[in-house]
Amino acid sequence: MNLDQLRRSIKGRVVTKVDHEFESVKAAMVWNEIKPDRSPEVIVTVKDDDDVIVAVNFARENGLKIVVHGGGHTWCGLAVRNGGMIIDLANLNESTIDKTNRTAVIQPVISNRELARRLSEHDLAFPIGHCPTVKASGYLLNGGMSWNLSEWGPACLSVEAIEFVTADGKKLKASATEHPELFWAARGCGPGMFAVATRFHLKCFPLPKTIMTSTYFYSLDDLREVVDEVTALGWKMPSIIELSIFLMKAPPELSAQCKKSNGKVCMVSAVAFAYTKEEAEATLAMLESGTAVKKCLAKMLNEPSSFEKLSDVAGSAWPEGHRNLCENQCSKAKPSDILMALRNKIIDAPSEKSVMVFCQSTGQHNLLEPYDDIALSMDAQSYGGSWAIWEKAEEDAANIKWQNEVAFIIKSFTSTHYIGETDIVEDNTRVQGSYTPEKWKKLEKIRAKYDPEGLFFGYLGGTDK
Ligand SMILES: Cc1cc2nc3c(=O)[nH]c(=O)nc-3n(C[C@H](O)[C@H](O)[C@H](O)COP(=O)(O)OP(=O)(O)OC[C@H]3O[C@@H](n4cnc5c(N)ncnc54)[C@H](O)[C@@H]3O)c2cc1C
Repeated sequence: MNLDQLRRSIKGRVVTKVDHEFESVKAAMVWNEIKPDRSPEVIVTVKDDDDVIVAVNFARENGLKIVVHGGGHTWCGLAVRNGGMIIDLANLNESTIDKTNRTAVIQPVISNRELARRLSEHDLAFPIGHCPTVKASGYLLNGGMSWNLSEWGPACLSVEAIEFVTADGKKLKASATEHPELFWAARGCGPGMFAVATRFHLKCFPLPKTIMTSTYFYSLDDLREVVDEVTALGWKMPSIIELSIFLMKAPPELSAQCKKSNGKVCMVSAVAFAYTKEEAEATLAMLESGTAVKKCLAKMLNEPSSFEKLSDVAGSAWPEGHRNLCENQCSKAKPSDILMALRNKIIDAPSEKSVMVFCQSTGQHNLLEPYDDIALSMDAQSYGGSWAIWEKAEEDAANIKWQNEVAFIIKSFTSTHYIGETDIVEDNTRVQGSYTPEKWKKLEKIRAKYDPEGLFFGYLGGTDK
């Protein structure tokens, strides 16, 4: 089959380097305004599963390697590689929801906000990610660091089966009982995925009817004392609390009080995913029981929220149309040691939009536990990192330098990187650094079984920049 025949054989669109819209279509493949200096040969935007099969067969028969594009939100633009074919799934966004059995079957390119909205109409919820526009596609394959993580666990634990088109152009379903090795690998293998995931079968939860937030702002002078107190309280709080510590720009009304720290502040955010008002208020009240809390500069208690409102807040912290770098990992180190090591860096950040966030353990167990039945290897008491966020290309040098210095500091506290939010182009050792040695070995064995000819690009890095 040649390119003209491919065009005639699929319902979707085929764009190649000679087409005038190629550069704009390629740029749209990456959410970040920092666009990769890489280019595919051909971009196939499919309309359905049959298109995926035709595209996979065409790539295999014509010696083109494949990368799948879900929502294009990988921070380092991994859905664009050098040469080969992008299979763009942007049109695959349908879902069916079974309220009685609390399950849903979704196509991959549905955003966190949209999935939450569709499920809430049936009084259901799923452990969606924090950013409203991130799509299920890559998020679920990465493992999924979700809202209500301590209670629901990483999102991939709530995936019951995944439908794939594999390198031989065949459709199959992977679950605990069918192709269990592929199912194991797909839950955490992220950008190294070696088949096209076309449908996810989800286990859902009853919608927490009372989502409520309490927020505290503290001076960076009190950082160690605050972090020690908040994390100690976290261990006593139930797991329905998502407890996060931010280092960030102070809200305008506090900026005068934070002059000494260049207008930066520590924000403690607790979100209760509760079913009753009483439960939410009682659990959030636990944060009032310390002594450091008396030093807070401002607080907002028991504010009613929802997945929709949480999406708005996260969406404004990680805005569209910006240049971003990110390093994200999990750690077994003492949280106050990590945050104190980063304190001066947030004060000196070249961009006021840059932010550091570390989510803490609640529910008397580590935030992330070692699960044998998924490839995801994160196992730690806190998870988070640093996001450099800025607008203008002329500010690249200062922000890149700053983010590299921050990543260097974080590295000494890192237990494993998070494959979904670490820059494997900048440092390819972060790929294996995202897995335990045993899981990495197993992952590579399964890849060799399902993609023996290496049709899919796999992880990017090293010389393939
Ligand atoms: C603002 C922002 C906030 C974020 N917040 C969170 C968060 O709270 N929790 C979290 O866990 N992550 C978070 N992420 C990271 C997010 O999980 C990843 O960026 C994820 O890859 C996004 O999915 P995508 O479909 O857009 O990926 P893409 O960039 O489209 O794809 C990335 C790679 O994944 C593979 N891939 C994607 N879809 C498929 C598929 N269907 N079949 C086979 N391979 C596929 C491909 O190898 C591809 O190169 C955030 C990212 C951003 C930009």
